[in-house]
Amino acid sequence: MAKLVVDRELCIGCGTCVELCPDVFELDDEERSFVKDESGCQSCDCEDAIASCPADAISWEE
Ligand code: SF4
Repeated sequence: MAKLVVDRELCIGCGTCVELCPDVFELDDEERSFVKDESGCQSCDCEDAIASCPADAISWEE
């Protein structure tokens, strides 16, 4: 099953993904996003968050 991942090396901590999908993404103490629910949103496929990430840091991984 595919899981959502954030490349923390790329993340610049803009917070866009957290704003769009707060159930899935969260910023940690280092102001970098991490995935708290790898299965993604129940209500969307997080494509907006993936497309809106300025660092291109979010993707689905098989
Ligand atoms: S949208 Fe991208 S750069 Fe911004 S916090 Fe999320 S993962 Fe990081």
